[in-house]
Amino acid sequence: MGRIFISAGHDLSDPGAVAFGTTEAKEMMLTRDLIVKELEAQRVEFYSVPDDLSLKRTIEWINSKAKKGDVALELHGNAFNGSARGTEAFYIAGNERRKQDAELILKALLAEVPELNLRGRVLSRGAKTDTTTPHGRLAFCRQVAVASILIELCFVDNREDLSLLQNHRDRFAKAIAKALIEWSGQKGQTPEVTQVSPINIRINNYEYEEKGILVNGNSFIPIDLVEQLEIPLVNHPEVRQIRYGGIVYVKAVDLQPFNVSVGWDSGTRTVILNRKGNGELEEIMGFGNASEVQLNTFLESQNEEALARFPLLPKVYIEEAQIEGVNYDIAFCQMCLETNFLRFGGQVKPEQNNFCGLGAVDGGAAGAFFPDMRTGIKAHIQHLKAYASTDPINKMPIVDPRFHLVRRGIAPLVKGLTGRWASDRLYDQKIMALVRRLHGIV
Ligand SMILES: [Zn+2]
Repeated sequence: MGRIFISAGHDLSDPGAVAFGTTEAKEMMLTRDLIVKELEAQRVEFYSVPDDLSLKRTIEWINSKAKKGDVALELHGNAFNGSARGTEAFYIAGNERRKQDAELILKALLAEVPELNLRGRVLSRGAKTDTTTPHGRLAFCRQVAVASILIELCFVDNREDLSLLQNHRDRFAKAIAKALIEWSGQKGQTPEVTQVSPINIRINNYEYEEKGILVNGNSFIPIDLVEQLEIPLVNHPEVRQIRYGGIVYVKAVDLQPFNVSVGWDSGTRTVILNRKGNGELEEIMGFGNASEVQLNTFLESQNEEALARFPLLPKVYIEEAQIEGVNYDIAFCQMCLETNFLRFGGQVKPEQNNFCGLGAVDGGAAGAFFPDMRTGIKAHIQHLKAYASTDPINKMPIVDPRFHLVRRGIAPLVKGLTGRWASDRLYDQKIMALVRRLHGIV
């Protein structure tokens, strides 16, 4: 029984092959990181060679620690003409034992990543002696004091091979870790068993025909359901996805920021999802979903200069809206519409601190003045609340000069602002288009 040495080929100053915006060194380090995780999870003894060591120093480093029975593997990515594909493992020529070791590793890899083994092409390139390489020898196979193999996981200059590695690195790592453990003669401890069981899904009050899964107490739903809900996951790596039985599932509670409420009925083992319709999205009273950073980014994506004059504006919108229970996503988007993303340029001037056209008339009056930004925002929020709710103002005084002119609660939805707040017949649709853009829905 021996310990394992794992090395990512090349080092921080030597990238190895370079292709498609990545490097062999980087891809091997990422793969090695996953292998290390796997070895740690299985609690076997191993050493991971530091990334700042050249090949010569890598060999010295291993030899300074190695004991009889240990094994050493170095990971590489191949490069040739862009079309060659597959995996191959090199061993010292003339050593039959080592040939079997190389075959053991390849066999484990091909079992876990069968895509490397395409029929009709020389893909599973197999175990090869190091004398078949361009220099006729490989230092890693010859100078490491213990059993050593060099593996070319795939061709990093071939697009399909590279994306196979990048998209299924976990499978490469699992296979290599398994092979290393077997090769070293250690016994891995299978990591904690994951509990997976099927669950029912109810979505917007109907039973969905496919099942979800419960993984260690967390509900996951199939990704095609998420697509049907028109939730774009492309730019949201924080939404957890797992693959189980050939299907990709998404963690249900991670969908909450997309206006999905998530509940659980333990009696029928059903995860209950409700996507708020446009009606609910349009409710002026409620919570905002965006973070302060998202509001900042949204504003600056439309006007780079927007925050120069009012750097704290998004933060104050959140604070003032929360005091009165107004949905700040809506208030903020209305501000964006009214001020053309703080460019102003209409009758209202920036120095008025009037962010919602209060008191301004098309082609006429310039509108209200407020002494500072916060008061202007407070007036906006109070005016929205006047329209959307009959509840009293939580934080007096009332600074909105037109608060008492509004029939309280007449417009609980954004739709109701059209023809009241502004004469533009598309007023509500313009605000809601911005809200959807803010939420990343379009
Ligand atoms: Zn290499």
